[in-house]
Amino acid sequence: MKLTILGSGTSVPHPERASSAHWLETSAGTILLDISGDAPHRMAQESLDWPNLDAIWISHFHLDHIGGLAPFLFGLRWAPQTQSRTKALRIFGPEGLRYIVETINDSNNYKLFEQRFAIEIAEVAPNAGFEILPGVNAETLKTLHTKESLALRLKDEDWKPFVYTSDTGLSEDLAPFAKDARLLLMECSFRRNKSVQKHLELADAMRVARESAPEKLVLTHLYSEWDHIDLVAEARALWTGETIEAKDGLTLEF
Ligand SMILES: [Zn+2]
Ligand SMILES: [Zn+2]
Repeated sequence: MKLTILGSGTSVPHPERASSAHWLETSAGTILLDISGDAPHRMAQESLDWPNLDAIWISHFHLDHIGGLAPFLFGLRWAPQTQSRTKALRIFGPEGLRYIVETINDSNNYKLFEQRFAIEIAEVAPNAGFEILPGVNAETLKTLHTKESLALRLKDEDWKPFVYTSDTGLSEDLAPFAKDARLLLMECSFRRNKSVQKHLELADAMRVARESAPEKLVLTHLYSEWDHIDLVAEARALWTGETIEAKDGLTLEF
């Protein structure tokens, strides 16, 4: 698998970190993990094959995770690169996803679903399983963030799991869900003394890492309080495994 960090930041504008978006290539196809408003252009900047993207995962409805969906569908409709596309684009997310996309669509007759190929929306339940790509099974976990927010665990017969927490507070369920991942992509919004319970700070994230023991840990969703801080060194003091700081444009093969 190959992961490309498109946006390692948050909803707050930042000069080097776009809002949440991560591109995952698997042998069964490509998945975009969250689609911030920045995501459509970031895919093009990284020369990714966005016209043939197979699936989009929306973890929750904060706009730094879903804000680029309607613009991307609008762009696909007009893009010369998609005029010969026939395969469906599948969009997975929590219950309520269809209502949001349809409401935006109806607000100005955007015709987001009138494409040369099918746009398929699938709403998935918390703590449930579904097939996200042919032969790739996904499981969800309800997270402590918004009423609909979900973490995602991907698995096929050949690989160890890939886990994406997206935005979450610390809960007892998180480490068991992330257990033994080949790569754990986890939020680490804050450095210390977090002012909200619905995100992780470094000590929380490293506790999950210690308990779940991933082969590789990538920390993302970084607020500007991380600017000029050696995140990897601070992480190493709390867990001896491999921690990687997400940076826009970073690619990892695993
Ligand atoms: Zn967020
Ligand atoms: Zn959020």
